[in-house]
Amino acid sequence: MKRQGSLYAGPVYEMARKQFDDVADHLQIPADERERIFTPKRAIAVACPIHRDDGSVAVYQGFRVQHHLTLGPTKGGTRFAPSVDLSEVAALAIWMSWKCALAGLPYGGAKGGIAVDPASLSMRELESVSRRYMQEMIPFVGPHVDVMAPDMGTNEQIMAWFMDTYSMYQGRTVREIVTGKPVDAGGTVGRREATGRGVAYLVDRAMAQLQMNPQGSTAVVQGFGNVGSVAALCLAERGLKIIAVSDHTAAYLDRKGLDVPALLKHVGAYRTLRGFSSELLCDPAQLLTEPCDVLVPAATERVINADIAARLQCRILAEAANGPTTPEADEILVHRKRDIFVIPDILCNAGGVIVSYFEWVQDLQWFFWNEKEVFERLHQALERSFQRVMERARTDGLSHRDAAMAIGVEVVRQAKQRRGLFP
Ligand code: NAD
Repeated sequence: MKRQGSLYAGPVYEMARKQFDDVADHLQIPADERERIFTPKRAIAVACPIHRDDGSVAVYQGFRVQHHLTLGPTKGGTRFAPSVDLSEVAALAIWMSWKCALAGLPYGGAKGGIAVDPASLSMRELESVSRRYMQEMIPFVGPHVDVMAPDMGTNEQIMAWFMDTYSMYQGRTVREIVTGKPVDAGGTVGRREATGRGVAYLVDRAMAQLQMNPQGSTAVVQGFGNVGSVAALCLAERGLKIIAVSDHTAAYLDRKGLDVPALLKHVGAYRTLRGFSSELLCDPAQLLTEPCDVLVPAATERVINADIAARLQCRILAEAANGPTTPEADEILVHRKRDIFVIPDILCNAGGVIVSYFEWVQDLQWFFWNEKEVFERLHQALERSFQRVMERARTDGLSHRDAAMAIGVEVVRQAKQRRGLFP
């Protein structure tokens, strides 16, 4: 349901609102101040027409939402998926704000996307729609205004096209307009793996806290794209058995442990998991409730609803995707399934934006770091956030999600209060 006067509606946006209101209640934020903190600053909708290979013209709807500009430029990914709409993008932008604030980055949140299935386009069509989208965004973005990055359905190549399009318009190379670029086009080492590596680092920390041994523990990973595949590989390297994985085309289960490098090789060659094995196929609906030590949803929003939450059989829920758990599912985790250690999304997948920040800093300075420097700083940043969330959860008696959100919301609130309200 759309609130009166609001541009936004829908379950994902309502979910972001509910999470915020719960934390705002805890922080006793007055109603008028809530609106100032929560309402997105800018929303842009554009039409992206392109020539298709068959000579016809197709028009794709594109969006970008910039949540707040109080701490610096906005930062956030660009999603290519048929389900993308303004309200989903707004919710993702708002989550980015709390994530950046929790990680101590000088950014507000943003998100963008195009309502398109990238798999339905040829390479030339994909390049056309990517370039047209960036061209339409030029009046609204900039290295000190709004910096894009990859998300679902986009990758390093698309970031290189974005950067090139913006640079052509400026008449000079502007690497710092997007992050997640290929290293040979001004990206940083470690960005492609950063989100998945960060997930594995935090799973490690949670296991240490619970005195669990990674060797021989089991993990299930939903989504085998950039984040899920790297998380699976890093967990396997730590000794965990990856017993099940899935993407939107197939799900596989083997309680003896799947061969993750072979899965990666298959996806490298065929883009999806389809066709990897006929013996190991399983029902995708069964995946999330499979008994395991670590469950990693790394696909999309709202996959863990109340029904699934009641049937979860994991010890650690590592939210690699944004918004995988609905508020109704959260109620169950908080009240009935307290033994599940939740690593909330704005902490769990923050490795991506942290290394994006490193990439932006390196691009602005034309001074590049090596892999050791990138990962050491990433781990330091994640460790700091992890400690702060654990401490806040303890002192305030909050769930990990509410503790992480409380820290993020407080940072934004404080900055707005200090700056005052213009004019
Ligand atoms: P991606 O496009 O590389 O991969 C998405 C994967 O999810 C694909 O394997 C796809 O087949 C699968 N998938 C989609 N719908 C599914 C479904 N219903 N069931 C099972 N699998 C499904 O995207 P990504 O970059 O890996 O992003 C995944 C999630 O992580 C998203 O929620 C994204 O917002 C979040 N995230 C990504 C980054 C990043 O750096 N890429 C950073 C932070 C958060």
